[in-house]
Amino acid sequence: MTLAYQTLSQTWDVIVAGGGTAGAIAGIAAARAGARVLVIEAQGSLGGTGTNAWVTPLMRNLSAGENLNRGLTDELKARLLARGDGAVDPNGNDNWFNPEGMKFVLEQMLLSAGGEVLYHTHVVEPVMADDVDGRWLMVDGKDTAHRVPLTAPHPFPQATGHKPQAIHSLVIHNKGGLQALRAAVFIDATGDADLAARAGVPFHAGDEDGIHQAMSLRFTLAGVDTARLCAFLNANGQGQTGEHFLHFWMVWGKNSTLEPLFREAVEAGVLLERDGDYFQGFSVPGRPGEISFNCPRIRPELHDGADPWQLSAAQTDGREAIDRLTAFCRASLPGCENAFIGVVAPMVGVRESRRIVGEYTLTLTDILDCARFPDVICRNHYPVDIHSVKGGARLLHERDGTAPYFAKDAYHEIPFRAIVPVGISNLLVPGRAASSTFEAQSAIRVQQNCHSMGEAAGIAAAWAAREHDGRVRDVGIDALQTELRRLGGNL
Ligand SMILES: Cc1cc2nc3c(=O)[nH]c(=O)nc-3n(C[C@H](O)[C@H](O)[C@H](O)COP(=O)(O)OP(=O)(O)OC[C@H]3O[C@@H](n4cnc5c(N)ncnc54)[C@H](O)[C@@H]3O)c2cc1C
Repeated sequence: MTLAYQTLSQTWDVIVAGGGTAGAIAGIAAARAGARVLVIEAQGSLGGTGTNAWVTPLMRNLSAGENLNRGLTDELKARLLARGDGAVDPNGNDNWFNPEGMKFVLEQMLLSAGGEVLYHTHVVEPVMADDVDGRWLMVDGKDTAHRVPLTAPHPFPQATGHKPQAIHSLVIHNKGGLQALRAAVFIDATGDADLAARAGVPFHAGDEDGIHQAMSLRFTLAGVDTARLCAFLNANGQGQTGEHFLHFWMVWGKNSTLEPLFREAVEAGVLLERDGDYFQGFSVPGRPGEISFNCPRIRPELHDGADPWQLSAAQTDGREAIDRLTAFCRASLPGCENAFIGVVAPMVGVRESRRIVGEYTLTLTDILDCARFPDVICRNHYPVDIHSVKGGARLLHERDGTAPYFAKDAYHEIPFRAIVPVGISNLLVPGRAASSTFEAQSAIRVQQNCHSMGEAAGIAAAWAAREHDGRVRDVGIDALQTELRRLGGNL
């Protein structure tokens, strides 16, 4: 069977696949750089894991007390603050935000920059330039084609000595059926490198055994008496900065003062043992009486967020666990007696799935040695942070170490080459799918780094479309860095 699709006559300079954490920012940056931009998003709002997987707050990424991610991240925070959807706590942490507010802010920024968005649309397959008249057979002249299924993966130019291939257009699926959209440059910000993988870019996935980080389905409890909860947490050794900035946690064996409550609940049959593998709650600005939970963890067998069956089963497994955790909170945490489920995140939280092979692959050694790169686009000091389904969580900051990275004023850099996939001339891959080893990815994946990578990708894509026939490798790195600095970037 072949599938027919229509190629639209309209074209864009830049198409962003996935309007998530990196993709929304990439779209805004590209539009502000003067490109005609279309962001294609599977959900009905922008922000991805930060909004639709309800991942709040932004993780701090500091070196010597200074935030390493500035530029558009600063503007986001300012806009969130202005509408009451952001907050700065008494310790000066400005990373608290309301995911629902973030959806509005990102959309306003994209549209006001002249960018377009197409919601409820899935990226299906790229049409490679070589294949327009080949593997993808054109019928009726230019506008309709029949797809002939791929029989073999694309060869990698590195292996064959060929020039990088180009993406001609992108087949999408939505209520209109299948269509192909054309652009000079594509940004794959799907988090799972969906577009890159289908274009033949090699990728890594998971650790040395192919096991991914744990997925989680985040949720909120509303109707919480936060003053009472705060008093209880303070009395139980989980020191709080105040009832509006609550942060509490329990992980088996990590000396959390809440562990005895969890043990009792497991023994009483309210919780399963694995519900205590990771439990964490946060306040949310603009939503008084509501706590956002960075859990439950999905059962370990379901760890691959790029597998649609596992992803679907994760949703079900997560909802069952949310019922257990809600019962536990009501019974065991003072202030939560009348709490009810406020939000169950529409998207399962996927920490790590595919990671492209780029022109440079960031490693753990780069992180520990505070590597510097001539093509730096982002600085990071967030720790290696692996939520392992093999047991527990691993935070490299907790270990004593003599490596340069453990100093308070340390940071390493992320090079532009880490978002340039091998083999394709007009594609960039910012965000959690950037080219990195399993351990390095666990450090660079946090939202503010995804913003910074997205901002660099957006500008580079706009320039590649305007000046270089779409070839992203021809973008001048010095000029890109100068522009990022001009826009407030900390490089
Ligand atoms: C449970 C969990 C807790 C975390 N905790 C924190 C934290 O506290 N603070 C922090 O800063 N970071 C945290 N992180 C990390 C961080 O949130 C993510 O790594 C980051 O948001 C990923 O950004 P991204 O742009 O790469 O992908 P995403 O933000 O996931 O964006 C991908 C977008 O692409 C869309 N998409 C995917 N496939 C397709 C397709 N085929 N077609 C069309 N659209 C598609 C998705 O709908 C989505 O909008 C956490 C992550 C998880 C999962």
